Amino acid sequence: MAEGALIDGKAVAAELRESIGKAVTTLKASHNLTPGLAVVLVGEDPASQVYVRNKGKQTVAAGMQSFEHKLDVSTSEADVLAIVEKLNNDPQVHGILVQLPLPDQIDSQKVLNAINPAKDVDGFHPVNAGRLATGEPALVPCTPLGCVILAKKVAPSLSGMDAVVIGRSNIVGKPVSQLLLQESCTVTIAHSRTKDLPEVCRRADLVVAAVGRPEMVRGDWIKPGAIVIDVGINRVEGADGKSKLVGDVHFDECRAVASAITPVPGGVGPMTIACLLRNTVQAACDANGITMPAI
Ligand code: NDP
Repeated sequence: MAEGALIDGKAVAAELRESIGKAVTTLKASHNLTPGLAVVLVGEDPASQVYVRNKGKQTVAAGMQSFEHKLDVSTSEADVLAIVEKLNNDPQVHGILVQLPLPDQIDSQKVLNAINPAKDVDGFHPVNAGRLATGEPALVPCTPLGCVILAKKVAPSLSGMDAVVIGRSNIVGKPVSQLLLQESCTVTIAHSRTKDLPEVCRRADLVVAAVGRPEMVRGDWIKPGAIVIDVGINRVEGADGKSKLVGDVHFDECRAVASAITPVPGGVGPMTIACLLRNTVQAACDANGITMPAI
C-alpha cells in the first residue's frame, strides 16, 4: 500500500491567514472596523514568550491590532484580573488571550472565567464550552478547530466516520470530540483508563491523538486507510543527541498504514494561531452586529 498523504498544516494555515487578511481589509473598508487581539503574558516562560511573539506578529500581518500586556512573574491574581476587566471594557479589543501556564499564585480558571465570553477567542470559558456542547454559536477552541479543518482537507465530509479521540482535556480532547460530533462522526473519547486502547483505535476511520506522550500511537493501532491527526508536541532527544519535536503518533509507522497524516512539526501546530486570528475576526464582527466575511 502507498504511504499516507501528508496533511501540510503549514500550507493550510498560510491559506487561512491569507483569507483572514482579506476579510480584515473588507471589514476596514466597509465598516471602518479593525479587529483587535490582546494577549496577556505573565512571567518569562521561554516557550510562552515565543508563542506570544508569533501571535503578535501574525496578528499585525493580518492587518489587525495587537495589544500586548507583559507582566512580571510576581504579579498578583488581583492585578491580572484588573487587566482582564480593563480589556473586557475596551472597545478596540475584540479578543483576549491569557497565555497559559500562569504562575502558581494565580488561579488560571478564575482568570479564564473572568474574560467576557464574547471576547474569549481561546474558547476556554465555560459559556463557550457549553455553547459548543449544545450546538449554539460559540467561540471554539483554536487547536481543536485546526484539527477538524485539517481532517476536512482530505475528507470534506466526515459524516458517519468512526472517530477516536485520545485525550479528554478541556483544551483539546473534549472540544475536538464535540466538533467531530457536530460533523456527525461516531465519537469515542479515550483516556488513560481506557481498556485496550490499541483495539479501540483500530476501529477508527479518524484518529486524533492529544495525549502528550511521544510516539505512543503505533502503526498496528491504525486501521488501513484511516486519517491520523497528531496534536502532540513532545521534545525528545534524537539519535544524534540533539533535541527534536515529535508527536503522540509514531509518524513513520502510522504513515505506512494511514491514508493521510499530519506531521509534527508542521501539522496541527501552525493551525492554532491561524484559528485564533479567525476567532478574533468572528468576535469583532459579532460585537458589531456584522456578518463575518467568508474565511
Ligand atoms: P493533557 O495532559 O491536559 O491531557 C492529556 C490527555 O491524555 C488526558 O486526558 C489523559 O488521560 C490522556 N492520557 C495520558 N496518558 C495516556 C495514555 N497512556 N493512554 C491514553 N490516554 C492517556 O494534555 P493536552 O490535552 O493539553 O495536550 C495534549 C498534547 O497536545 C500535548 O502534547 C500538548 O503539548 C499538545 N498540544 C498542542 C497544541 C498545538 O498544537 N498548538 C495545543 C495544545 C496542546 P486522563 O484524563 O485519564 O489523565
